[in-house]
Amino acid sequence: MNAFYMPTRVICGRGCVREQGALLDPLGRHALIVTGKSSSKNGALDDLLFALEANGQDGTVYDRVTPNPTVGCVREGLSLLRSAGCDFVVAIGGGSPMDAAKMIALLALQDREDEELFSGGYEPKALPMAHIPTTAGTGSEVTPYAILTNEEQTTKTSISSPAMFPRIAFLDGGYTDQLPEAITKNTAMDAFSHAAEGILSRNSIPLSDVLAKESLRLLYPLLTSLSKGMPTARERDELLYASMLAGMTIAQSGTTAIHGMGYYLTYFYGVDHGRANGLLLGEMLRLCERKNLPQLDEICTACGVSRAEEICALLSELLGEREKISEEELERFAVMAQKNKNIKKSRYEPSLEDLRVIYLRSFGYSC
Ligand code: NAP
Ligand code: FE
Repeated sequence: MNAFYMPTRVICGRGCVREQGALLDPLGRHALIVTGKSSSKNGALDDLLFALEANGQDGTVYDRVTPNPTVGCVREGLSLLRSAGCDFVVAIGGGSPMDAAKMIALLALQDREDEELFSGGYEPKALPMAHIPTTAGTGSEVTPYAILTNEEQTTKTSISSPAMFPRIAFLDGGYTDQLPEAITKNTAMDAFSHAAEGILSRNSIPLSDVLAKESLRLLYPLLTSLSKGMPTARERDELLYASMLAGMTIAQSGTTAIHGMGYYLTYFYGVDHGRANGLLLGEMLRLCERKNLPQLDEICTACGVSRAEEICALLSELLGEREKISEEELERFAVMAQKNKNIKKSRYEPSLEDLRVIYLRSFGYSC
């Protein structure tokens, strides 16, 4: 199907939350602010509270979201939303607070038993949301997905509903200025993976490819610069913008085998989400090159390189020393990943043997 849907208004620029805060006014009278701990230090929470007050709106802060949000966290936020009488939701943070906020906004209008949360088929209604990303990033501010830890399936699972597109995304690169080096690199690799996977997805459409290629064109030199040192303020702004474009890409195409495989590294070994994708992406690109996938050339051209090997070398530099995970564990992940719904979304659908080879080679085993 070739249909493009992107209902999120995107406002970019340093200072945009205070300057354009009036845009929050139509969303409701009392916001549940879903966030972690860093938003009170990077200026984002202060700016939001200023904007709400200027509009005569109330705000209640739920700041207990931790990385890889759980159903329990969503439940806690939802019960605060109800007891405080909130009628809209604002997320501030990386993908974790943004995804938790999406589920809170969705369940506020259509609650379900915990066992039914991952089974899909939601009605297209949620409380209105605004998102303020402080990592660059997941692009969650422009996607209809919320990814939660799924204890029963021992992985992370994406829940999708068009109702989870935020109404507004405010992109202020200043909030990412103090982002530590490891998080900066890991989140940038996540954005890069989204753009590349968008092109490698069976569900890509011409418009998502346009967004993906523009994102890669911007991200490749930014990643190269990141491999040498911390980004300038201007580079921070560009990273946030390119990550948003990659988010718009996967909002149409979805992610592929890489994300599906990476979730096991995160669930069982606590590997950061973006790093997990970065660890696996190089071997997937090599595989696509061996299979002569034309989309691989498109990725290389957008990055301004001639071979996947150059992208692999850059990723290796960003990743540094890799985690030590035993062969047995990686073989086990390959078997589990084979059943992941993302595998079938890949243009080149990796076999069990392909998955084994990607996992093993990504962690330095020869096979
Ligand atoms: P994150 O888990 O949201 O945040 C990682 C760490 O960075 C946290 O400790 C966070 O602290 C800190 N942090 C955030 N902003 C900061 C800032 N400006 N300065 C200093 N520290 C800061 O990481 P993420 O990589 O952005 O998000 C990953 C999650 O997003 C995963 O669960 C992944 O599955 C999901 N994801 C979702 C989508 C989607 O479309 N929905 C796409 C890709 C990934 P505090 O939280 O305490 O502030
Ligand atoms: Fe991701």
